[in-house]
Amino acid sequence: MKCMERDQLWQSVLGEIELQISRPNFITWLKNSRLIDHQEGIATVALPNTFTKEWVQNKYHKLILGSLRTKQDNIKALNFIVQASNIPMSTKNEEYVSEPVSSADQLAFDELKVDPNTNLNPKYTLTSFMVGRTNELAYAAAMGVIESIGKKYNPFFVYGGVGLGKTHLIQAMGNEIKKRYQDRVKVKYVTSENFMNEVVVGIQHKRMEDLKEKYRNVDVLIVDDIQFIAGRARTEEEFFHTFNALYDHNKQIILSSDKPPQYIPTLEARLRSRFQGGMIADITYPDYELRLAVLHTKIQEKGANLPALVVQTIATKVQKNLRELEGILNRIIFYQQAKKEEITPKLVEKIIDETINQSNKNVSPEKIIQTVASYFQVSAEEITSKGRKQELIEPRQVAVYLLREVLDLSYPAIGDKLGKRDHTTAIYAYNKILKELQSNQELNQKVIMLRDDILK
Ligand code: ADP
Ligand code: MG
Repeated sequence: MKCMERDQLWQSVLGEIELQISRPNFITWLKNSRLIDHQEGIATVALPNTFTKEWVQNKYHKLILGSLRTKQDNIKALNFIVQASNIPMSTKNEEYVSEPVSSADQLAFDELKVDPNTNLNPKYTLTSFMVGRTNELAYAAAMGVIESIGKKYNPFFVYGGVGLGKTHLIQAMGNEIKKRYQDRVKVKYVTSENFMNEVVVGIQHKRMEDLKEKYRNVDVLIVDDIQFIAGRARTEEEFFHTFNALYDHNKQIILSSDKPPQYIPTLEARLRSRFQGGMIADITYPDYELRLAVLHTKIQEKGANLPALVVQTIATKVQKNLRELEGILNRIIFYQQAKKEEITPKLVEKIIDETINQSNKNVSPEKIIQTVASYFQVSAEEITSKGRKQELIEPRQVAVYLLREVLDLSYPAIGDKLGKRDHTTAIYAYNKILKELQSNQELNQKVIMLRDDILK
């Protein structure tokens, strides 16, 4: 591809992404990116420093690859490299030495391992899926599906917040089914974004029949992040027919989503009722034990070695989700292997703080309070007022909890933000919610949705 074409391709990718992420994020992370190479299905994107590279790779890899593929379908993988442009680097970035083996290569490699027939990535297995209190229902249901495909739980619908293991679980189901039933069962995995793109391309090229054929021919259809099809009339329509065709023939349908069917706005009613007709299972925030178990497996997978105290520190401090947990683990291993630093709990805390604070930098206390307020249908002023109305208690406590969890604000600062209340009130509210979350699924769900909304 010529340089000019490459630039144009990249500009159109950026144009598309700009519409999908917030302006500050776009400027911070992607504005200075360039597409510098495209060979044998691997596109190479250059970023100005290691920090940005890691960030883009973790956060936008899928988005970029997805967008590139819709424009150039022979692109199979992405590779990120650091190439300083003429933009001056801040001193902070200079701390990071360049990586000997880039994890982008690993990512690209992972992508290449995807089975072209099923679209499944073999790295997701049931053995490496740790089971704890927060995902055991989903896991048990998944096992039920595998035991009797198409008969027991159909469709199987698993939902939960970002990075809690939905993709891992449903891909592992596909891999397990392949392993057990071999060629007797045809499995296909697709993200709903790809499904949507295929519908668009199918319409453009008048190839809808091929598409129908492709999906109606499978025994197990796995669609990831189904919430994205909501509101896309033609895709929903197509999916509805595919769903029915498969369902009527006792084929298994496996779906994941970030929310339960009834909370996906603009999802067509007939699809919603289809989704509700099967088995719905949730995955909620991992507790300490599960975080620890996942850390141990990942450390083993990566062939690393970390002191027990360090592993415990990570499990204690990183609570948000398992993807973040893995991101931070990678970063720590990078310090250990590339920078040859001794990993102490103190260093770990520093790394965690840097990473977590970065991802929250566009969030203000006001935004949190506002988000909570609109969710509970009260006003932000009411939450921060002195008023003692019963219906303000829960929103206020949830606001305290999120101010602490998302922004790590001190209790006095939280008390201050919430109408100059005493810090002991903030402590009480925080602990109340923390405790409540252990048993109250509904509250769990609210907090997940709110947090996702806040961090969006
Ligand atoms: P989601 O699809 O819900 O956003 P993913 O399935 O992508 O989340 O999970 C994020 C990361 O956490 C992946 O690396 C995945 O392997 C890991 N992970 C999630 N749940 C588990 C689990 N129960 N056991 C082991 N690893 C997990
Ligand atoms: Mg996922």
